[in-house]
Amino acid sequence: MTELLQPKLRLADGHTMPQLGFGVYKLADQATMNTAIAAANRSGYHLFDTAQAYGNEAILGTAFKELTIPRTELFIITKVAEVNQGYDNTLRSVERSLKLLQTDYLDLLLVHWPIHSQFFETWRAFERLKAEKIVRSIGVSNYHQTHLDYLATRANEQPVVNQIENHPYLSQEPLLAYDRKQQIVSQAWSPLGRGVVLQDPVLAKIASQHHRSVAQIILRWHIQRGLAIIPKSQNPQRISENAAIFDFKLDADEMTAIARLNRRQRTGADPEVVYEIEHQYH
Ligand code: NAP
Repeated sequence: MTELLQPKLRLADGHTMPQLGFGVYKLADQATMNTAIAAANRSGYHLFDTAQAYGNEAILGTAFKELTIPRTELFIITKVAEVNQGYDNTLRSVERSLKLLQTDYLDLLLVHWPIHSQFFETWRAFERLKAEKIVRSIGVSNYHQTHLDYLATRANEQPVVNQIENHPYLSQEPLLAYDRKQQIVSQAWSPLGRGVVLQDPVLAKIASQHHRSVAQIILRWHIQRGLAIIPKSQNPQRISENAAIFDFKLDADEMTAIARLNRRQRTGADPEVVYEIEHQYH
């Protein structure tokens, strides 16, 4: 894949973000991380998504250093864990993340999950980190429309990215439309549905017509909908395959057929259920 084929999305704060990225959830030891990051680097990924809660910021930082990937070629995302929310805790935890990642700035910092009790305190810390240029862009993860509306009532800086679960069995079109309206880029986590959607017969048929894998069809579908994606794999061949999605197109009928697979099936937690949004945010 050449650099020219790598699309970038413009964020509302003026920065750009690669549309394709690499998720490192569950990459747990240095050797596995190094192999995965080396394969991702060869395949043209620049964006890497980690989180304080994954416990692997240190081995990711070490992988970047050992592979001597220049910082300017990297777009690094981490997320503030629930236990680290609040004003002081957020500032302290980000300082630690920077040390572990062996960098002096983050490209994008996300609130991992909406937590009612620390909602605005956490965001104030995010705004300060942005003002101090420790973080270039700030965003959220697992926010529904109600969370975004609530944040907008007191935020000075609006989030520029909302990272949410998204795949053919959970397409979340109303939330994507709301993100777009608010000039927020939607970034799909578990874009492959953690493997659950890979056996789908509709996807298998489209894949065979294009001589592509089912994973490539799903990732291409996300790209054509304008979403950012962060597929994870620890297999070098699949890491390369997941990046080879910029030299073919799905037609309108195929896009519609995939959209029809939505069955509101989550692979992860539902922010509304976990954080009792309806009770707490009104
Ligand atoms: P995913 O990327 O949808 O799927 C990963 C699974 O699919 C792994 O089991 C992987 O196995 C397999 N896979 C990957 N490429 C494949 C291919 N081409 N063919 C067949 N199987 C393939 O799920 P995810 O890891 O849950 O999500 C991706 C990233 O999103 C995470 O790493 C993390 O960075 C982020 N995330 C964020 C949140 C949040 O709350 N913000 C939550 C979950 C995840 P192998 O590794 O064996 O290839």
